[in-house]
Amino acid sequence: MAGWIPEETLSEIRSASDIVDVVSEVVILKRAGRNFIGLCPFHAEKTPSFTVSPEKQIFYCFGCGAGGNIFTFLMKYHGITFFEAVTALADRSGVSLPEKSVSSAQRRQKTNRERILEINRVAMEYYHRHLLDKAHGRAARQYLHDRGIKDESLEAFAIGYAPRGWDHLISHLNQQRIHLDAAFQSGLIIPGKKRNGGYDRFRNRILFPIRDLGGRVIGFGGRVMDDSLPKYINSPESSVFQKGRSLYGLDRAKVACRRFDAVILVEGYFDVIALHQFGVENVVATLGTGVTGDHIRLLKGFAQRLYFVFDPDAAGLKAVERIVPALVKEDVTARIVTLPEGKDPDAFIREKGPDAFFMLMETAAPAVSFLIESAKARHGLSPSGKSRIVTEMESVLASIDDEISRSIFVKSVAEEIGVPEDLLLKKVSRVREKGTAAKRAERGFTPEGAFSADASEAPLARFEKKILSMMLQYPLMVPEIQKRGILEHFTDDRLKAIGRRILEYRGPSEGLIPELISMVKDPELGERIAHLAAGEDSWNTEGCLKLIRQFERHCDRALRDALNTRIQEAQKENNRALVDALLKEKQKMLHKRD
Ligand SMILES: [Zn+2]
Repeated sequence: MAGWIPEETLSEIRSASDIVDVVSEVVILKRAGRNFIGLCPFHAEKTPSFTVSPEKQIFYCFGCGAGGNIFTFLMKYHGITFFEAVTALADRSGVSLPEKSVSSAQRRQKTNRERILEINRVAMEYYHRHLLDKAHGRAARQYLHDRGIKDESLEAFAIGYAPRGWDHLISHLNQQRIHLDAAFQSGLIIPGKKRNGGYDRFRNRILFPIRDLGGRVIGFGGRVMDDSLPKYINSPESSVFQKGRSLYGLDRAKVACRRFDAVILVEGYFDVIALHQFGVENVVATLGTGVTGDHIRLLKGFAQRLYFVFDPDAAGLKAVERIVPALVKEDVTARIVTLPEGKDPDAFIREKGPDAFFMLMETAAPAVSFLIESAKARHGLSPSGKSRIVTEMESVLASIDDEISRSIFVKSVAEEIGVPEDLLLKKVSRVREKGTAAKRAERGFTPEGAFSADASEAPLARFEKKILSMMLQYPLMVPEIQKRGILEHFTDDRLKAIGRRILEYRGPSEGLIPELISMVKDPELGERIAHLAAGEDSWNTEGCLKLIRQFERHCDRALRDALNTRIQEAQKENNRALVDALLKEKQKMLHKRD
């Protein structure tokens, strides 16, 4: 592997970590024979084709071809660098990385991200202390108290208070001799006009630290304590904070989400905390953005049943309309919970208690049904009402990409409101044509799944893959492969390169596959290795030898054919000498093997 982390350290980290544990944090895995399977976090799928092998310490998706070892999983899932993945796993498993092995560039890369997280932590503690401070935090505590937040929640959620004034955080960081660079990058400090100057982003606000799955503070949400505007401001996006991929409270909710196989999505920090106070812990909130496809995919990894709490107003309806395509694409059903009189969950649960809330969840309708019901209630089923409903629903239906799903929804909507199905289908298709034309113009066409196995590949390449699979899954045969010079006959250079790596490998056999994936820098090659290793063929020596002989015969035949062609050509040209030489070669070849 790259020179800056010794191979032994990587091996140590690898053997101290388990890929099943790491993947389980974000994907629900079920045991299936020797493997674990789950829904792939890298593509939308309805039946699990994402496989994790504890023995081989790899993951592989038979649907989209994503695959690799524990490091590549973290890199791909979190969009982080190899170094960050190694650091994260080293932390987790208690293996220390030798300082000198880290080049200054990598140190910078590490420290940049780490420093933002570090400064966020320092700021969180600072703001939290301020809130608890007898004098400074009094008004803020009173405000939170009035909103029904209990003292233990202040602790549990590390709620803070950013004092009035422009430079409290700056002075605190200066006192601690902490460089302000990372504070600028995290957005805690906004650059000012003066050189090196700046001012605190959060002033006289209640602060809610937003954490990643590992509990590290990636950003803040800040709320005013009166009616002034903006009511909320968030940390800006940074290399550690992407609103479209982050959810408030997920770090605390994940265990309960798994336990109940259900997750409740609300819109505000106060809602999350209030529900927690009533013992409802499988609850998360978006961060002032709409629900994204990434959010849905993330939540799907924690629970099968999703409940989205929206206001039943126009904005809430729009929000539901917007998530339908992602829900269909991810094949999840989200039930839409609306609270009476437009109450937010915080107020509702305080007034009516958790049981009333659960009752609403029980009777909540799936997103599309919810939209139909809402449209019916607003427009009625008179001819003009139906026409308005169709106008509302056609763009929602058109946004569903999968044709079969779309036609199923069209049918149910048509039945629901009593319009001819083909009429609705025609309208939807028309909206879709306009839409796809616009979309194509917008971003161009990119084919998906370019790396999936194709049926058209040469039989020889199929053979070569099979042999590599054997070498990976049954390394006992590797010496035989080497002895017989099998790789020399490989026609696919990339497969040959993988084979050579296997021959070169000197470590313990259980480390072969994950180490190999680390060894190749090209992620596509890594995926290919995971693919080859992922199959569940049962090998034995006899079967292997048979495969090897088959391959050799196949190569011989190809060689013989090539020789024959050359002989024929030489005969045609009357090149006697060449014909003799070639015939001799052919003779030798025939004698070489039985
Ligand atoms: Zn996949």
